[in-house]
Amino acid sequence: MAEIQSFWQSYIDGKWVDAKSRKRLAISDPATGRQVAEVALAGAEDVNAAVAAARRAVASRALYDMKPEARCRLLNTIAAAIRGMVDEIAPVMTAENGKNLDFSRDEVESTARYFEYYAGMADKMHGRSIPLGGGYVDYTQLVPYGVSAQIVPWNFPLEIAARSLAPALGGANAVVIKSPELSPLSICFLAKAAERAGLPKGYLNIVCGLGEDAGEALTGHPGVDHIVFTGSVATGIRILRKAAERAVPSVMEMGGKSAGIVYADADLDATAKSAAIAIFAHAGQVCSAGSRLIVHRGVHDDLVDRIAKVAKGFTMGPGVENHFLTPVISEKQLEKIEGYCRSGVQAGAKAVIGGKRANRPGCFMEPTIFTGVTPDMLIAKEEIFGPVLAVMPFDEPDEALAIANGTEYGLAAGVYTRDLGRAHWTADRLEAGIVFVNQWFAGGNEVPFGGVKRSGFGREKGVEAMGNYVQVRNIAIRI
Ligand code: NAD
Repeated sequence: MAEIQSFWQSYIDGKWVDAKSRKRLAISDPATGRQVAEVALAGAEDVNAAVAAARRAVASRALYDMKPEARCRLLNTIAAAIRGMVDEIAPVMTAENGKNLDFSRDEVESTARYFEYYAGMADKMHGRSIPLGGGYVDYTQLVPYGVSAQIVPWNFPLEIAARSLAPALGGANAVVIKSPELSPLSICFLAKAAERAGLPKGYLNIVCGLGEDAGEALTGHPGVDHIVFTGSVATGIRILRKAAERAVPSVMEMGGKSAGIVYADADLDATAKSAAIAIFAHAGQVCSAGSRLIVHRGVHDDLVDRIAKVAKGFTMGPGVENHFLTPVISEKQLEKIEGYCRSGVQAGAKAVIGGKRANRPGCFMEPTIFTGVTPDMLIAKEEIFGPVLAVMPFDEPDEALAIANGTEYGLAAGVYTRDLGRAHWTADRLEAGIVFVNQWFAGGNEVPFGGVKRSGFGREKGVEAMGNYVQVRNIAIRI
């Protein structure tokens, strides 16, 4: 495997540059604790330069005035360049955030797909003509917001950056990405691909910095017209306050505490497999992870046994060796997860498996299943962002729905049943932006993604997302 580049710069105005302060941030591998590389640590001055470059790009109208077919080709060329670098990108992603190589390769593929998908829309977005009677011509245009500031989390850094960047460019916006301080490296390949494809300079700028420094500087910047935030609710609320001060439109993709409801008629083997993947993939560090399972009392014990069996069948180890159970992002996160597990035990829940860190070096947490959980426990209410499943029994469907909906989050939810009528009935009553039936994580880049309640608003992915990156201008003409 090729050695990983030891220092990664910011990408501003089509150039790779050091931080103005010359500061660097070390990035470490959660599987080993070893330093992977350093990244230029951007601060407010670097953010200013990035926003200024993006403003110049918008003023140049280079993307806006481009023939739509050329904009499509540009995005398709970026997609091809990303796909062509998969062998280079995947090991970097695995080293910086721990996920296994297969998942990293999937993430690269999904990143390329976002560019292809929005390339396919870039020449199909048009306004309409509205009759106003004799003597008038009226039409609408879909115009870019201008400079889009995009704040990205560490768990799926490349894919999440791409899902906002691709429609933003498709809509002719210029973008400043604030990459996550824990895993900023793979995002740099977006700039490499954009350079190869000939994206006009200034349309993509990438800075890595701390949230309270570069992040605040970016979201509060007077040159920013639009914000896309993906991350925790607490950070999202801070950003919304900033956005409100300047009335900046924002797309908010935040956390979840997503519940699956399992009816007694469900295929228990398939459900156990799906439920295990839903919470143990990428060590549960997935916004739409299935972290709660609400199971009909008649099959509760049987299903818990089967999920535990599936979990025991997974191997644990570094992502580079392609194990399924990979580390959590940091020691701090590991301690937080263990703290939640202790609170569960103190509150009377039982860890059927796991409940503590794994007995090995690196930030590994044992896959954990809690039974005897009640909805008021912290482990049932708060997003743990680790491989910890809270299982609760139910007797009547309304009770299951009340538990599932009884949280402030509303990102994903699931239903497991063989009865299609019951599946529809339940899906229609779940307070979530995404509902999976009989397979957690079913879907793709084509389907809209986002939350209700405190999980956020606006939608990413699918046709719906494009609407977040352009606004309507009406032009009424008196002839
Ligand atoms: P986080 O909120 O700590 O950080 C997210 C990003 O915000 C990082 O880039 C961080 O530097 C930046 N940030 C932090 N403080 C900031 C500030 N004051 N101003 C501007 N930017 C700031 O979240 P995280 O730990 O990186 O990611 C995990 C969270 O993200 C979980 O809650 C997860 O559910 C959520 N998430 C949501 C989705 C989704 O699509 N809904 C996807 C992935 C992750």
